[in-house]
Amino acid sequence: MKKVTLPCGELVAALGQGTWRIGDDPTRRQEEIDCLRRGIDLGLTLIDTAEMYGEGLSEALVGEAIEGRRDEVFIVSKVYPHNASHRSMPVSCDNSLKRLRIDAIDLYLLHWQGDVPLAETVEAFEALKRAGKIRHWGVSNLDTALMRELNDVPGGAAVQTDQVLYNLGRRGVEWDLLPWLRERHIPVMAYSPLEEGRLVQRRELMDFAKRHGMTPSQVAIGWLLAQDGVIAIPKTGNRQRLEENALALEHPLTTAPLRELDALFPPPRGPSPLEMI
Ligand code: NAP
Repeated sequence: MKKVTLPCGELVAALGQGTWRIGDDPTRRQEEIDCLRRGIDLGLTLIDTAEMYGEGLSEALVGEAIEGRRDEVFIVSKVYPHNASHRSMPVSCDNSLKRLRIDAIDLYLLHWQGDVPLAETVEAFEALKRAGKIRHWGVSNLDTALMRELNDVPGGAAVQTDQVLYNLGRRGVEWDLLPWLRERHIPVMAYSPLEEGRLVQRRELMDFAKRHGMTPSQVAIGWLLAQDGVIAIPKTGNRQRLEENALALEHPLTTAPLRELDALFPPPRGPSPLEMI
């Protein structure tokens, strides 16, 4: 498994597992648990969830899936912006820990910036670190201006990642956010790497994949894995698609096909606002 180094020096899997909408449908529960466990078997040990996902249903399912396998996984969860305060964050974190059935979250993220000042959120994260309830913290959906602001807050430079929308069809972050993060050795966690499944239906990607003996999802994931300091977290609740996606690790894209992809899905030509799903 390709690994990415966090600023704290810890190595995490470059290909992880997303869990948005997992746990929502009780009839699919066992299939989704088996799928996450199969993912861990294949080395996709970074699991991304959030208190928002199904209002705790996703975290609860992840908790069940990692039962007995705590040492193998790196758990990422997220706090709602309105809970990212001195008063509410400890409560949110305790609730997430209970649902996940673990003692500490490996990486706890601010889901997006709300009304709580970043300085207060950083203090609340650091207090949870001292209490042993989280090991590291990071952010999500913060653009370059907000990352600069965070960096200037006392303790803000301890941020471990910015989780943002990034895929072949959404390359805006390459203009300024990615270079800013790379300069500071902060990896990006690319969410919706398949554009919620829509990317794999695009004709140009389907044709490219066929020419290169891959599937469209393998190309979309492989393109992210080919870049330095990028962690991809595709979501699937289906074992066959999970195994298909994991095979992206075994067909790394080389310079010529990457150039071809640049022509099909061009990089940005100027700044653009950070997109969100
Ligand atoms: P995604 O991973 O881009 O796409 C997931 C969709 O693609 C699902 O409908 C899945 O269906 C389908 N899919 C997966 N593998 C496939 C394959 N090989 N062929 C065809 N379809 C396939 O979308 P996402 O769930 O939005 O993003 C991934 C994760 O990022 C989330 O689960 C979440 O953990 C995180 N996220 C974070 C934020 C944030 O604000 N921080 C926002 C969005 C997402 P099946 O499940 O039926 O296979």
